[in-house]
Amino acid sequence: MKILVASSEVAPFAKTGGLADVCGALPIELAHLDHDVSVIMPAFRQVRNCGQNIKPTEVTFSLEIGDRHLSGRLLQSQLPNSNVKIYFVEQAELFDRPQLYGDKAQDYEDNCVRFTFFCRAVLQWVSQAVLPVDVIHCNDWQAALIPALLKTQFSGDPNLASIRTLMSIHNMAYQGRFGHGDMPFTGIDWKYFNWRQMEFHGDLNLLKTGIVFADAVSTVSPRYALEIQTEEYGCGLDAVLKQRGDALHGILNGVHYDLWDPAVDRSLPQNYGADNWQNGKRVCKRVLQAKMGLAQKADVPLIGMIGRIADQKGWDLVAKVLETRLPQSEEQWAILGTGDPRYEALLVSLAERYPTRVGVQIGFSEPLARQIEAASDMYLMPSLYEPCGLNQMYSLKYGSVPVVRETGGLADTITDATKENRVAQTANGFSFTNYTPADLAATIERACQLFMDDSQQWQQLVETGMRQDWSWRQSAKHYEAIFQELLT
Ligand code: ADP
Repeated sequence: MKILVASSEVAPFAKTGGLADVCGALPIELAHLDHDVSVIMPAFRQVRNCGQNIKPTEVTFSLEIGDRHLSGRLLQSQLPNSNVKIYFVEQAELFDRPQLYGDKAQDYEDNCVRFTFFCRAVLQWVSQAVLPVDVIHCNDWQAALIPALLKTQFSGDPNLASIRTLMSIHNMAYQGRFGHGDMPFTGIDWKYFNWRQMEFHGDLNLLKTGIVFADAVSTVSPRYALEIQTEEYGCGLDAVLKQRGDALHGILNGVHYDLWDPAVDRSLPQNYGADNWQNGKRVCKRVLQAKMGLAQKADVPLIGMIGRIADQKGWDLVAKVLETRLPQSEEQWAILGTGDPRYEALLVSLAERYPTRVGVQIGFSEPLARQIEAASDMYLMPSLYEPCGLNQMYSLKYGSVPVVRETGGLADTITDATKENRVAQTANGFSFTNYTPADLAATIERACQLFMDDSQQWQQLVETGMRQDWSWRQSAKHYEAIFQELLT
């Protein structure tokens, strides 16, 4: 099969979260299954600065977006250590900016123009170059216009007629919702601006558009696929998703172990595997403690947390739990993240008040993220909702026992360390159900107690997680099966 993956983030070219890891890894795994896979994304400034070898091509774009004429060019590179080609839609005015989607305060106000241009450029290229594409895998709202364009504006184009689409949702909360005045940018006739197709409470909604027009829809874990069909998790689109229920698949993301393995991770002061983790993690912990100004103690639990500082990730619970636990407990915290300035300020002030117990770095640093995974004894992910979550799976591999809320992909990957599960040797972490500070605090306490009181049980938990296989192999086969079904 010839598969084109369209995404706004692809590691290592541009990344703000898990989407990049998925779109950097899944195409390689699909290529291992003997498919001809290419990837396309916008040429953001991050892409130009990422240190990869990127070359121009002869392909150019020319598009009317609203009353503007915008031209661009196609660049090309390769996903590292693979034969997967990646292409970039270059348009300096739209994409050569400091951030991917907006600055701290708000999204770029022309995001609809930016990603409409991206989607339309992708199809213009596929059509004009007469590329033999069977399936376009569209990821998140930034690529969600592609299925609609194929079935409307481009529906008479013989070079595109046989293409099928899969719309993958990585997070229901980000929908690409714009005022109805942005509708003309899409190039799609106004007649499609109705509540069954592109309109959502008077606005243009690109994710909804993708869900409605795609040949199949997927999201990134089986549990989340069920959750988003409910009012609580559907972010207003639960009814639309229910309507597509037969074509909606939940496929768990995987880990690209070539890149996420403490045995080969070059960011770590000491490499280790499931057979020698105790020594390896001890060294990593000592070095991280020194780096973050924490007390050099091996026997107190170190809790790691990395991620976007957004409400989704449970920072409100963490803030409350930190305030109450820190005056009376012993554990240490290593936190890396960037986002909501309210929580950033709170975390920084806690680090100032408890300098030997709380290390905080505000910003984005992949090496530090890896060092925290390796150094910490526990990894905290008390998410309000979590489509899949990658960090808990990285933590398992790095021997950092996940402490999670039972939701979405966290529920699909983490088995709570109840007595029965420990006896059955299926436990690989700690989880709680109710989104309350009390339940989070109790679960952290449970984890800390086991860490301090029972090193044998702790060893079993760590090693169960480290030996599990959450690779892309199985998941890629699910995607393959969907694509095959679409083509028959
Ligand atoms: P989401 O996609 O919702 O942000 P995931 O757990 O699926 O959450 O993936 C997050 C990815 O982004 C992980 O690879 C994580 O390490 C990385 N990440 C998030 N924030 C940071 C940061 N501040 N520094 C380094 N890596 C980060």
